[in-house]
Amino acid sequence: MKQSVKLIVGNWKMNGLSAALAQAEAIRDAVSAAGQGPRVVLCPPATLIDRISAALADSGVAVGGQDCHEKPVGAFTGSVSAEMLADAGATVVILGHSERRAAFGETDADVAAKVEAAIAAGLEPIVCVGETLEQREAGEAIAVVSAQVEGSLPMGLSERDFAVAYEPVWAIGTGLTPTLEQIAEVHAAIRAAMIKRLGDSARTAPILYGGSVKPENARDILATPEVGGALVGGASLKAEDFMPIVKAAA
Ligand code: PEP
Repeated sequence: MKQSVKLIVGNWKMNGLSAALAQAEAIRDAVSAAGQGPRVVLCPPATLIDRISAALADSGVAVGGQDCHEKPVGAFTGSVSAEMLADAGATVVILGHSERRAAFGETDADVAAKVEAAIAAGLEPIVCVGETLEQREAGEAIAVVSAQVEGSLPMGLSERDFAVAYEPVWAIGTGLTPTLEQIAEVHAAIRAAMIKRLGDSARTAPILYGGSVKPENARDILATPEVGGALVGGASLKAEDFMPIVKAAA
């Protein structure tokens, strides 16, 4: 994966029924009409991966999952394995999103185990890290995020394609964003932690910024040092909001 080509990932979270297929197709068509640009990945709910993968086959838009179980198969009612995501057509998976860390108690060790499962299934993991508002106000943002990188990236990632997403918890879905200086500072710290953990192979993996990325702020955020792309939640649900962000990354 080359650092110079940005990576723009849409996280649909728990949004989207069958009708959302039309939005995926609209994004596919707009990405193809825009020509040369960033890598684009859509992460719909697991129920839509199969259909959206089929609709986006051989287009410039890949499909990803939003989570996976750490085991490939077994008695884990309600869970979806990395192998199942890949079987449905996903090539990427978001792991360790703060909503899963907060609502489902996922620890760094849990995330690292899921990353191993994703690698084993041939998926490209996007590992999310980020501090809470309390941690930022206490001056702990860099220490918290660096520790999450250390704990969530297993050694098995060396030489593999992966990405890290810096998503300050207080910026997700709030309309708030860090200053560009704060983003640059945390991204530099994440790069240092990645290299400390995985060595030189971690020099080129993209570090995405996520948290209230919108058409209005995307260009400046994407031009910030060490920002290799964006993880976009709310603004990825509609082609009219998502495409300006994709174009800002071209
Ligand atoms: C997210 O949930 O990953 C995210 C970045 O959400 P939003 O863009 O809506 O803040």
